[in-house]
Amino acid sequence: MQLKTLYKKALDLVPLTAEEGTALYHEAPLEDLIFIGDRLRQIHVPGNNAGWMIDRNVNITNICFSQCKFCNFCRKKDSPDAYVTSIEEYIKKINELMSLGGDQILLQGGMNPDLGIEFYTTLFRNLKELYPALKLHALGPPEVVYLSKKENLPYSEVLRRLADAGLDSLPGAGAEILSDRVRQIVSPAKATSREWLDVMREAHRLNLPTSATMMYGHIETVAERIRHLVSIRELQEGKPESSYGFITFIPWPFQDEGTLLAKRHGIKSSYNAPDYLRLVAISRIMLNNITNLQSSLLTIGKEVAMLSLHAGANDLGSIMIEENVVSAAGSNNRFNADEIQDIIREAGFNPVRRNQKYEQV
Ligand code: SF4
Repeated sequence: MQLKTLYKKALDLVPLTAEEGTALYHEAPLEDLIFIGDRLRQIHVPGNNAGWMIDRNVNITNICFSQCKFCNFCRKKDSPDAYVTSIEEYIKKINELMSLGGDQILLQGGMNPDLGIEFYTTLFRNLKELYPALKLHALGPPEVVYLSKKENLPYSEVLRRLADAGLDSLPGAGAEILSDRVRQIVSPAKATSREWLDVMREAHRLNLPTSATMMYGHIETVAERIRHLVSIRELQEGKPESSYGFITFIPWPFQDEGTLLAKRHGIKSSYNAPDYLRLVAISRIMLNNITNLQSSLLTIGKEVAMLSLHAGANDLGSIMIEENVVSAAGSNNRFNADEIQDIIREAGFNPVRRNQKYEQV
């Protein structure tokens, strides 16, 4: 395959096939990919702005039946430190968030077999009653699949009830790698690739803003990374024209510290900076129909995040006032609002604070 032909297709925003993307990943020099990733970023997001936001993770519960092998956060029901967050704790955390100028919580956690749709809709309603301006970026496709099975409801109905109760947007959590070979090994109890994509298709039909993610660097092949990107692009192609669809794509590397994958299977994170930049640029190329690409400052740290803004990314995500899931596996790159803006400036961009829909605030 001629690299120059692939470069031209990429720069013309022509979708590359999975084979072409895999060839590019293996064969293209990193500097070429960074150049193309940056050019494409300028087409999608003209100018010199890079986004950031203030939100807060709040974990609904750490009880989870899924027991994914890369997760140090989940607990069994009878564990001494198992919890379900109380309304008093939400109030304390949201008050702190608002005192820092934030208005969104990222509500995630385990799939607790005792919690059904009624629990979530009541929680969302209570939070919205207490804080009408609060935005709820909550749950993810695996929870929707779980609730659908538990309540015997179609995905569309689960999503509709959650949205009626106050869900503002659906994170792309739990995508990991959209390959059932990989999922059978790292997270066999979680939603399949097809289920993850089917939930997102329904969310797009309901016009819920969504994001897409990838957790890479464990047991997947490069071809599986590329196939993941193609699956996301194809779903985005089929979204209703007026729907938000996937507003952004966020890749982050597997954090191995203390995980079952590392302890029992000897699988260490394959993360390294050049490969992250390669992935960012290739994601920009493969996802020719998604406007935003967010780097994972929390997992990759300042220097690589700054470089990623020159390789196709246009956003460094949230200051993450509280994050317990990825941090439990060794990620600790925390920054406050001033620091994240300084990082963006140091990289040569103008920091622009945004909301979940990537609108400037
Ligand atoms: S990653 Fe999420 S779904 Fe998997 S075990 Fe942890 S909390 Fe449960």
